[in-house]
Amino acid sequence: MPDNASYPKTKFAENLTRRSGILELMDDLGEAMTTGRDKMLMMGGGNPGHIPAMQTLWRERFAELLATPDVFDAVLGDYDQPAGSPRFREAVAGFFQREFDWPITAKNVAITNGGQTAFFCLLNRFGGRMPDEKSRRRILLPLVPEYIGYADQSVGADFFDSRRPSIEHIDERTFKYHIDFEKLTVADDIGAIAVSRPTNPSSNVLTDEEIQRLSELAREKGVPLIIDNAYGAPFPGVIFEPVTPIWDEHIVLTLSLSKLGLPGTRTGIVIAREDIAAEVSAMTAVISLANNNVGQAIAAPLLESGEILRLANDIVRPFYAEKSTSARALIEQHLPADLPWRVHKSEGAFFLWLWFEGLPITTRELYRRLRDRHTLIVPGEYFFFGLADSEGGEDWPHSHECIRLSYTQSQETLERGIAILGEEVAKAYSER
Ligand code: PLP
Repeated sequence: MPDNASYPKTKFAENLTRRSGILELMDDLGEAMTTGRDKMLMMGGGNPGHIPAMQTLWRERFAELLATPDVFDAVLGDYDQPAGSPRFREAVAGFFQREFDWPITAKNVAITNGGQTAFFCLLNRFGGRMPDEKSRRRILLPLVPEYIGYADQSVGADFFDSRRPSIEHIDERTFKYHIDFEKLTVADDIGAIAVSRPTNPSSNVLTDEEIQRLSELAREKGVPLIIDNAYGAPFPGVIFEPVTPIWDEHIVLTLSLSKLGLPGTRTGIVIAREDIAAEVSAMTAVISLANNNVGQAIAAPLLESGEILRLANDIVRPFYAEKSTSARALIEQHLPADLPWRVHKSEGAFFLWLWFEGLPITTRELYRRLRDRHTLIVPGEYFFFGLADSEGGEDWPHSHECIRLSYTQSQETLERGIAILGEEVAKAYSER
């Protein structure tokens, strides 16, 4: 057999190595960051913005760690426990007890190598083939578009049961998604309900009432409601709608330090029933022995003092709210007024979600044309995974008419990028 013959792929390898949307996105982002940083107008990836006040804070925290050699040496030189650092888990539990009266202890907290890994463990914990090898459980996504990063996480058979939202037209140019509760049935093979809040890509924030209804539905059906709080309240605080953070025994909440400006530390936080938190830790032990503990070490005092709330409310939220407003102004300025473009109401996260109704080309084609002009966005198709044929599947025109545009980069990048977007969209519509 020649050395370069391909080895047969397992189902696991097939799922995790196909050219997934997330891989393409991270590749484009990585390439642009390393080779074409000056050339590429990056409105594609989900990298957080560099907020000067937060960067200063992280540098100070690093300096404090360096100044305490015993702590610093332990952080670098010792494996953490698979569940996470005891001090950090206590700090997380204490913070939520004090600020929100949640009845949790450190045993309800499991740390992972980022929220992405938390979701990999959780989705495969509740979705997939059952031990009898005959039946399977699926994950209900009550509203797509949903986060591209979940799409290929299944290690076995595809497991999503996704639903189309209803669309509210707020004004001529602004729309908002809602869960279509009229049609939201929970089949018997559903193992969990999952949502991101705010949602990447649309920035939609499910209202407290929607979350309450989902929570009741999950409780009735005896399945967990998994809420991905990568951007939300109380931290990192990239959320522009007033919402109440919620936890209950049947809710699994995931948080992350990434969007506070620490994506490099890979720190995810799972708050769940004790047995679920213990299972996540067991998975960490198998997959990676332990977690990166640098982020935990530098963030623990901020949770202990409650300072993290002030950072979220006074620094992180205003930074992104202002970026969102000025990106929206650039859209108004550069997208042709005679074309039917719309923007999802900006409610959080880092993105504007644009809808070009009746666009004559797919948004993948629009992406390619923009990339040829050194401008990166993310085509919307990737975010509509798991839609059954009864939900319009691939044929739902809306799923080919949206793009995600990240506004974390500089004003100059956005000005130039959105101007090019306006030109390419005008060209595409003229091909009708
Ligand atoms: N969930 C959502 C909705 C995200 O947008 C992201 C990252 O962009 C993640 C989870 C994962 O983030 P991390 O693994 O850095 O915590």
